[in-house]
Amino acid sequence: MKYCKECLYPSVSVLLNIHDDGICSGCRSHKSFLKSPDEFWKKREKKFQELLNEYKNESYYDCIVPVSGGKDSYYQTHVICKKYNLKPLLITYDGNNWLPEGEYNRNQLKNKFDIDHIMWSPSVDVLKKLNRLAFRKIGDMNWHDHCGIVTVPIIMAVKFKIPLIIWGETEWDIAGIYGPEDVVEFSNRSRHENSLRGYEWYDFIKNNEEKLTEKDFAWAKYPSDEEILSVGVRGIYIGNFFKWDGKRNAELMKEKYDWRASKKPFERTYRNFSNLDNRYSNGVSDLLKFVKFGYGRCTDHASKDIRNKHINRDKGIELVKKHDHVVSADLEHWLEYVNMSKQSFWETADKFRDPRVWTIKNKQWYKDNIWGEESAYGDVYLNDEQINEFNEKKKKLHNRKI
Ligand SMILES: [Zn+2]
Repeated sequence: MKYCKECLYPSVSVLLNIHDDGICSGCRSHKSFLKSPDEFWKKREKKFQELLNEYKNESYYDCIVPVSGGKDSYYQTHVICKKYNLKPLLITYDGNNWLPEGEYNRNQLKNKFDIDHIMWSPSVDVLKKLNRLAFRKIGDMNWHDHCGIVTVPIIMAVKFKIPLIIWGETEWDIAGIYGPEDVVEFSNRSRHENSLRGYEWYDFIKNNEEKLTEKDFAWAKYPSDEEILSVGVRGIYIGNFFKWDGKRNAELMKEKYDWRASKKPFERTYRNFSNLDNRYSNGVSDLLKFVKFGYGRCTDHASKDIRNKHINRDKGIELVKKHDHVVSADLEHWLEYVNMSKQSFWETADKFRDPRVWTIKNKQWYKDNIWGEESAYGDVYLNDEQINEFNEKKKKLHNRKI
C-alpha cells in the first residue's frame, strides 16, 4: 500500500491519486490554494457579490441554505445573513440520528439568525428498514443520509421556486479533483456518483426483503431536468469564494453564536466538532470505511489538519494509530436501533473488505499500516467458500499496481 508522503491518505482512497513524487492530488490542490495570493480571494469575494446581486429578491427568499446545524452550517448562514444581509430559507434533512449537541445547535440556528427553517423528517420505520437494506446491499447504513442531504434542498428549491442554493465546503476538497481556479457548481452527476455511491432510490425497491416501496422515497427523488430548468436552480459552494478551514470556522462559531462541540470525545477520531448531526458518522458508519478500505475518519481529519498546518505528519500518524481501527460503542446502539445481531453485522461487513488492503491469515484480518508494520485487526467472519473467493480475488489483483 502506498501512502501520500505529506498527508496520511492511502492510495485506495476514493477519487484521490498519488503522483510519482509521492504527493497526493489533494495535497497538490491544497498547496496551490495556500500559495494563492490574497488577491485571489479578493477577486473571488467580488465574484460572489456579483452573483448574489443577480439573485437578490425584494419580496421573497434570496436563496436556500442546506444546513445540518454543524459548524459549517453556522458559518454559511453567518456569511449569508451577517456579511451579505440576505434572507435565506434553511433546509434540513432529518435522518433521526442526532447527537444531543447536534440537535441543540440545529434548533438554535434559526433563532440565532432569526430566519425561517424547514426540516424534512422521513418515517423512522422507513429509515430503519433503509439502514438495514443499504448496509446489506452496499455496506453503508447511512446511504439515506448522503441521499437526503443532497436531494431534499433541490426538491425544495423547485417547489418553492428559489433558484439559488448555497452549499458550504467544496465536496471534492479532500481528493483535489479540481484546482483553485475552478469554480465548480453542484451537479446531479456528482451527487449520483459521489454522494449516493452510484445508487438511487429505485435500486432499493427491487425485490427488497424490507418491502420498501416507491411511496417511501418522496424525499429521495431528484427533480426532473424540466423542473430544475423551469426554476433555474443552481448550487454554488461558499468554499469556492472564501478560504475554508473547518477548525477555524468551529472556533469562530463557538465564540460568536455559542455553537457547541460534542462534550463526549469520539472514539474513532480526535476531533469533537465534526458530524454532530449523525451519531454514526464518526462511529459505526466510519468503522465500515475502515473495514472496506483500511482507513477511517481520523485519517480524514488529521490529513485536513496537516494540510492546514494545525498538526505535523508524525502527530497525524500517532492519532491514526490510536483511532482508525477502534470498534466504537455506538455499534451496540445501532444494532439495537435496527434489531440486528453482532454476528450478522460482522458476517455482512466482512463481505465488503477490499482485497487490495486486507489479507487473511489464521482466520484473522491483517493489513499494513502507515507506520510501516502489519497488524491483525480481528476475526474473519466469512465461511470457507467466501474465504476462497476473497483469496482468489486477491491473487488476481496481486500483479496490478494499486
Ligand atoms: Zn496528501
